[in-house]
This record gives sequence, C-alpha cells and structure tokens, in this order.
Amino acid sequence: MPQRRRMFWLLFPRYLTIILVSMVAVFAVFRYVIEGFYRDDTRGQLEALARVVALRLQAAVEAEDQPQIQAECLELGRLCQARFTVVLRAGKVMGDTYEIPANMDNHADRPEIRTALEQGTVGTSERFSHTIQTQMFYVAIPIVKDGRALGVVRVARPLSQLQSAIRSAQDRVLVGGLGIALIAGLLSLLIARRITAPIEEIRAGAERYAQGDFTCKILQPDAAELGDLAQAMNRMAAEIEARIATVTDQRNELEAILRSMIEGVLAVDQEQRLLTVNNAAFVLLGMQRADVHGKSLQEVVRCPALHKLATTALQQEASVEGEIVLYDQDRERIVQVHGTALHDAAGVRTGAALVLNDITRLRRLENVRRDFVANVSHELRTPITSLKASVETLLDGAMREPENAHRFLQIILRHADRMNAIINDLLLLAQMDLAEKDDAPSRLEWKVIPAVDLLQAAMRVCAVKAEKKGIQVSHDCPNGLSVRCDTHLIEQAIINLLDNAINYSEGGRPVRVSARAEDADVLIAVQDQGSGIPSNHLPRIFERFYRVDKARSREQGGTGLGLAIVKHIVQAHGGSVAVESEVGKGSTFTIRLPAPRQNGKA
Ligand code: ADP
Repeated sequence: MPQRRRMFWLLFPRYLTIILVSMVAVFAVFRYVIEGFYRDDTRGQLEALARVVALRLQAAVEAEDQPQIQAECLELGRLCQARFTVVLRAGKVMGDTYEIPANMDNHADRPEIRTALEQGTVGTSERFSHTIQTQMFYVAIPIVKDGRALGVVRVARPLSQLQSAIRSAQDRVLVGGLGIALIAGLLSLLIARRITAPIEEIRAGAERYAQGDFTCKILQPDAAELGDLAQAMNRMAAEIEARIATVTDQRNELEAILRSMIEGVLAVDQEQRLLTVNNAAFVLLGMQRADVHGKSLQEVVRCPALHKLATTALQQEASVEGEIVLYDQDRERIVQVHGTALHDAAGVRTGAALVLNDITRLRRLENVRRDFVANVSHELRTPITSLKASVETLLDGAMREPENAHRFLQIILRHADRMNAIINDLLLLAQMDLAEKDDAPSRLEWKVIPAVDLLQAAMRVCAVKAEKKGIQVSHDCPNGLSVRCDTHLIEQAIINLLDNAINYSEGGRPVRVSARAEDADVLIAVQDQGSGIPSNHLPRIFERFYRVDKARSREQGGTGLGLAIVKHIVQAHGGSVAVESEVGKGSTFTIRLPAPRQNGKA
C-alpha cells in the first residue's frame, strides 16, 4: 500500500508550488517588459541628444572644421556622460569624445552609421567597441543639408549602464515579489488548515466510531458538503449504536435463555471448533470451565458417539438425533442428542448446534414402570393361578367332599386375602403418588397428636401377630412429645415397620418402638433383633416389590410394597426414612418427620 500523507501536506505544498511558479512567470514577464522599456528609453534619450548635437554642429560639419568638432565632442561628452562621434559622409571621423580622430579608422561600415547615411533615418546598434573596449549602445542620426547627408552624429553609452539600471529594477521587484510570496504562502497555510481542520474533525470522529465510542457527535463544519458528510456520519453512528444495542439485547436474552436451559447446548463451526457452550452442557459433558472457545470438540470431550453425531449434523441438511452414553465418575448418563445445521445471514452453512437432553431419569422411570407392571402381573398371577386351580378342583368333585371342600375354600380365602392386600397396598401407593405429584401437604389431613398415641395405636394392630410369635413389643416415648401429621398415614407407616419387625424376627425376640425429638424434628424408630438385612440389599429395599428373601416374604403374607408405602408416606410429610441393619443382629428403621413450620401450609 502506498504511503499516505495527511491532506494538509497534500494541499499546502501544492499551494506553495502554484505561488512560486506564478511568481517566476510574473518575474520573467516583468524582466522582459522592463528590459524593453529601459532600451527604448535609452534610445530615446540618445536620439534626442544626437538631434541637438546635429543642429549645433551643422555649420562646423559643413565647414569640415575638425578642431571645433573635436572640442565640441569632448565638451558634450563631459556634460552628458556619453560618447559623441562625428563622422563625415565618406566615413572619416571628425571628432570623438574618447579618441583622437586621426587615430580612428574609417567608420562608414558601422551598422548604425550606414543606416543613418543610406536611409537618412535613425540607426541603432549594440556591440563591442574596440575603441573603448566595452559593449556599447549606439544611436546615429544624419546631418542633412539640401536633402543630402553631409555626415553623421553618433551618441553612445556603455550597455553596462543600461544593464545595471535593469538589474536594480529587477532586484526591487524580486524583493517585493518574495515578500508577496511569503504573505501568499502564509495565507495558503491558513487556507489549507481551514480546509483540512473540519476534515480532520470528521476523521477523528470516524476513528472514535470505529473504536465503538458513539458518545461524541461530530461537529458540523460550515462547508455544505462536509456538513452533509458529518450529518450522514452522525446518523450512521446513531443507527449503528441502535443496532449494537439491539444485538446486545438479543445476545443477552440468548445467553440468559442458554444459561437457564436444563438442556445442554453446544454450537460448533465447520471444523468442529466450539463456538458456544452453555452451563448445562459443561456439567453434562464434565468439561472444565476453562476457556473452551475455539477448541475442537474432540479435544474437549472424549465421546466418539458425540463426535460422530456432530459430523453427521455438519454434513447433512436435515437434523440428526441419537443417544449417547456418558460416564460421570461411576455414574452412567443417557443423553439424547439433537443436532441441526447453523447458517449465517447469507444462508451459508457455518456449523451445527447440538442440544443435549439428559434422559437418564426418564429411562430409569420407564424401567421402573416396566418392572412395576411386570411385578404386579407376577404378584397377581400366583394367587390367581391358585384360585383357579382350587376352584377347578372343587368343580371336579372336591366340592362334594366336605373336608376337601373346606380345605380348598381356605386356600381360596387366603389367596383372595393376599390379592386384597396387594390391591390395597397398590391403591395406597397410587394415592401417595398422586399426593406427591400435587401439593402433598395440602392433601393430607394434618392433626397434632401425642406421639405415644400413634405408637400405641400401631402396637394394638400388630398385637395379635406379635403374641402369636411370642414377641414382646415395647415402646419408649417422652411425655408431652406430640407430632403434627396425617395420623392415619403415619400410623400405617409405623404398622408396616412393626409388621416387618415381627415377620423377620424369631419368636421371643423383642421389638421396640420409640419416639424422640431431635432439634425440631420428631424421630420414630422401630428396632428389632431379627434376621437383619445384608448391606448389598439395603439401598434397594424401599423399592416396590423388592424383597431380600422372596419365599420368606410370601410365607409371611408380605406384598413387597410395605417399605415403599412407608417411604412415600414419609416423603409426603416432607420427611425421610432410613435403615440400619446387621445380618443376625437386627434392624432399625427410623422415620424423621420435620418440624411443623417446615411442613409448609401444614
Ligand atoms: P414385604 O411385604 O416383603 O415385607 P416390604 O417392602 O415391607 O415387603 O419389605 C421389603 C423387604 O425388606 C422384605 O421382603 C424383607 O426382605 C426386608 N425387610 C423389611 N423389614 C425387615 C426387617 N425388619 N428385618 C429384616 N428384613 C426386613
């Protein structure tokens, strides 16, 4: 790029050049004119002098009185500061201011003398004089008598006189010219500054706009064109500022949306370099929050399935969908990926956007639901099969044998009871599910009740079973401790825990139910010295239909839903249930009910 100069340095030197060229031209013309003027003036003066001398020497020339002519030439030369020469028609010199005539050669061939003699007019000439060894300016006129030239009077002055006069005039003009040029130069400097100052102002304004500073407006110069330009730039700046504000607002909105999204969002360019990553994507992909912008997806995330999906999204126009499995420490996450192409304003493809949706919970719930349906079917199939078999046996003739009929009816009753128990538990669970989905606390029937009443009510329900097994159930509860809860549901939860404690304890082993306050919470614990639960089963025993020992559970009339019901009841109260157990030593189940004020509306 050629080196660019400021406008001032383009204008000012040009102005100076114009001034100097004009001055030189004017000076040349002047020099020509003044030289002509001085030459004409000198010729005029010398001619006048020659005419006067011709009149004065007319008689002496006619008489060819040489001494007088010589004397006159000397006298006149001294008075007029000029050289006078008188020459006869034949060329003989009769008198001369600077030389003795006898020593001078014939002058008839001198151009000015020849012109004066031959044409009878004024003869002029400029040449070197060998007589006085200098450049001379000669003027000659004829001395005429009766129309015939008798001789010539010639007047001469050194050319140096004329030249010095011209030079002195030139010097004065030069000094004056330089003064004028200086003033003109200063004026052009001011004009150049006046022209460039508003342009400089506009340039500085444009520079500020380019740097993103739109606060100062450009002042409007007087010149109409520059004024229009400044106005147009100010309008443009206002427009850009408004557009930037709009773009910033949109970007902030987009960032806020991306930030608040549960789904992870990634945007990559054509080379799979990351352009945008939202918070959810950072968490989901386990990426470091260091600056990932511009790094490649492969570099930041180690998941070939995701890279493949990104490549497909970048290659095809239609959106792509797929599932990937990510490992976060030991946890497995199933993520649904939806990829679409990104285009710029001109419709050119610039990359792809990937939306990541963590569907692990959804998948788990689907599995739970599938398992649940399978479990329910399985649980119901056994009693239904037994019912069917018993009824068929009765119909086949056992009905007519009273002893057998009684036995099969007992079996039918037991299985019907079992189905009833399962259905009751399922209904209760469904009810709790509903309560949890909605606003649980508002669906419960809250009452404040002494804790001891709750414990005794549950013990009463289980008393017959405990007595049958010879298990002594004791309770321990501080006086005055009361619980705020849905009494019917919490009683049911304690019954379930007590029932399990009795079912899974050997005869004669005691069971203890206790309640106590901890901080503002109430803790209800059911402790037995029964079989205990192996630690590997503990995390799952609150799941529906989960049993440690299926056969034993069925034998005890269990549905596998008791602990799941306990968990849901307690959760609906905003509390939690925990278990501690050791195989062969027993188990302790503890319900924690939060303080009333934490129960929200309760
Ligand atoms: P079930 O109807 O089979 O008792 P629960 O949901 O009440 O179903 O209990 C789930 C499983 O947890 C039981 O099958 C049993 O194996 C185990 N369990 C529950 N309570 C106890 C306990 N107090 N002692 C030992 N095992 C227990």
